[in-house]
Amino acid sequence: MGMIRNWRRKKLDRTPFPDPWRRILSDNVIQYKKMDSHQREKFESKVRYFMEEKSFEGCGGMELDEAKNLLIAALACIPLMGDVSDLYPYLRSVLVYPSEYRAPYRESGIDGVVSEGVESRSGESWDQGVLVFSWDEVAYDLRHPRDGANIVFHECAHQLDYEWGATMESFSWHRMAKEPGLASVLKSSYKKLLEKLDSGRPTRIDEYAATNIHEFFAVMTETWLERPDRIRTDWPEVEKVLSDFYNLNPDFL
Ligand SMILES: [Zn+2]
Repeated sequence: MGMIRNWRRKKLDRTPFPDPWRRILSDNVIQYKKMDSHQREKFESKVRYFMEEKSFEGCGGMELDEAKNLLIAALACIPLMGDVSDLYPYLRSVLVYPSEYRAPYRESGIDGVVSEGVESRSGESWDQGVLVFSWDEVAYDLRHPRDGANIVFHECAHQLDYEWGATMESFSWHRMAKEPGLASVLKSSYKKLLEKLDSGRPTRIDEYAATNIHEFFAVMTETWLERPDRIRTDWPEVEKVLSDFYNLNPDFL
């Protein structure tokens, strides 16, 4: 960690966490309500650093305010409670649209056919440090913390994939130094998901996970953080490697 950042963080830690922020978190973030005092202290530090070190930008007419930024920062810090990452070091900016936004896409399918067009999106993660969200989606997820879907957890998982090479298929700085078993379990489980879908069996996870291995990791992460029971029952190998990778037990969140 850089010396200046270290110094800034220490300075922040010396002043109390703002009471209005505590109220906003208590009113909106179920995981915060459940934390014990030790977890809260750790979480509040992370949220504060996030607010200080990342920039937030409203797009498409979005009016951001401190409360909205705080809630996004809080959700982004939940997957980090086991210290898997020092606040997504390559992430610089969070862009927020009021609702679903339109973006051009270009992708090649399994058959090699390239398709192009414009699609509606509610969030995305760019490998060089930008997260994009629709505020409507973030607000919906805050109101439905146990439905197994969370756009911030999902996009933050992509950031960790870039950082750690969780799937071993994207560019990463560490090339899986963190959790060597993760990529192979993800790969075999991803194949299992495709087979399940082919045979028409229920999966209890968002079928968007079948898109590719990166989306599989992101969807597994968001479902596991909100509904660990589902992943534990249906995907026990995945539950094991996610617990090790994140160093976290979502039952306590
Ligand atoms: Zn994704």
